[in-house]
Amino acid sequence: MTQNELKEQVNREMNAMKPGYRRCHSCGSVAYHLDNVYPFVNCRECGSQDTRLLKDQGEYKYGNAAGLEAKLLPGEPWFALRAKDAMAVEAVLHYADVCEKAGLKDHAEGVRRSIQQMEEWRKANPQHVKMPD
Ligand SMILES: [Zn+2]
Repeated sequence: MTQNELKEQVNREMNAMKPGYRRCHSCGSVAYHLDNVYPFVNCRECGSQDTRLLKDQGEYKYGNAAGLEAKLLPGEPWFALRAKDAMAVEAVLHYADVCEKAGLKDHAEGVRRSIQQMEEWRKANPQHVKMPD
């Protein structure tokens, strides 16, 4: 099996587990979980087994991290900013401005929607927002 075939198999298996964002009904923490296998749905903050799939998973361009991975060209480098990173929103805002100045209005709008999702998550999870190490 080649590395790409292995990557595709892993992506298929990950998607079959229906990963998604779940909110803990006990403490309100939101985290990305695999959906169907105990104990992967347990809250990472308080251990509660009552986590519920968020109805609005947001308009993520690639659906999830596995979806992004599947779109990458072999060996293509990539970079991610997470909502928990205290510097992320400002950096992504700058990217949206750069796109807008280049005339990429729709893309800039999509980037701004991502910023809004990051800010909503940060509001719900202030205890997780940290300066990068
Ligand atoms: Zn919890």
